[in-house]
Amino acid sequence: VLSITADILQIVRKAKQPISKKEIATASGLSVSAAADHVERLMDANLLVHAAIGGSSGGRKPRLYAFNKDAGHLISIDMDTASAQVAITNFDCSILAQNSCSFDIYDGPDKVLNHIKEVIFELLTQNRLDRSAIKGIGFGIPGPVEFASGLPISPTLMPGWDQYPIRKFWSEHFHCPCYIDNDVNIMALGEYAKGLVLEVDNMMIIKVGVGIGAGIICDGKLYRGSNGSAGDLGHFDVGRDVTCWCGNRGCLEAVAGGKAVVTQAKELALSGKGDYLLDMINKKGTLDMADIAVGIQRRDAVSIELNRESSSLIGRVVASIVNFLNPELILVSGAFSEFEDTLLAAIRQAVYKRSLPLSTRNLLINKSALGNKAGLIGAAYMTLEQLIINSINDQEDANLATG
Ligand SMILES: [Zn+2]
Repeated sequence: VLSITADILQIVRKAKQPISKKEIATASGLSVSAAADHVERLMDANLLVHAAIGGSSGGRKPRLYAFNKDAGHLISIDMDTASAQVAITNFDCSILAQNSCSFDIYDGPDKVLNHIKEVIFELLTQNRLDRSAIKGIGFGIPGPVEFASGLPISPTLMPGWDQYPIRKFWSEHFHCPCYIDNDVNIMALGEYAKGLVLEVDNMMIIKVGVGIGAGIICDGKLYRGSNGSAGDLGHFDVGRDVTCWCGNRGCLEAVAGGKAVVTQAKELALSGKGDYLLDMINKKGTLDMADIAVGIQRRDAVSIELNRESSSLIGRVVASIVNFLNPELILVSGAFSEFEDTLLAAIRQAVYKRSLPLSTRNLLINKSALGNKAGLIGAAYMTLEQLIINSINDQEDANLATG
């Protein structure tokens, strides 16, 4: 029953204008009286409001319902290993105010979280909002998360954060629930909730940064798997003789992830095969992904070849996933647009070459529509989804107590 109520709310939320109980019934396949019960439940939970009376020619005009996007504010945090973006959103996951901060993840969770907290407090003050206005916090981190407990589990890019009680930290400053997931899952939710390609219920987003991950939306729901690690495509075996940080050999991430590409670039430069890259090492003492992106811009042959090679490996893995999952939409998000273009082309090429005709019949492959806002919007959407489930639950308990 709960999930039907949540589905009804989604129908109203996605409708472009206020809708009547009859329209809700039609869209959900329920009888009008059954739909009315769910609508009442959502009204009691303050998630729906009455809108203006609907116009109809003659007779009684139907009452219209709208999603109550002003039922409260949410805090949304999208963190990577060197910075975090934070935002205040309404219940419609629209960003009302936004800021960012930089830090070193090696400083450990206490210092980093306190730093992010200060930026949030500042944002609230600037927007004349009290902490009590915040109904939920959504937090995306660059590592695996056990969703039920909100604990990071052995996040290789985040030393010192293993099983760190992030929820407990926020509960000491805010009286609202906090939900934590990995950075690519919240991106998937953001694109699903507010991306440019709407009405897509089966999609995936592939993020290639230092590591490689995917977020999967299946039948309109984020697919987390049984523990929260679904979509971790970085450890597909691509049959190369390279050891991955996970201990296995041949992992995709160990060959084609950002970190791996930088390592290969250094090796090539130092063995005299890349003048531009060697130049950068000499100037900066090191090399990073941004240098390779610039190399691609300047038509440096070694940078272009490294990018082409890694993209084509990722494309091959994605092609297999397309056969397996049959999504309608694949979105690609890279650390730099220079990587994204090649990656998009390689994925398209591999998918159309290797995937079965039925699995590509309706398939769209595009760049991420929301770019660096996808995570922020998605963290808010994740929070909203969980709050909806909670408030309908509470309502249900209250009804049981009084009934
Ligand atoms: Zn691995």
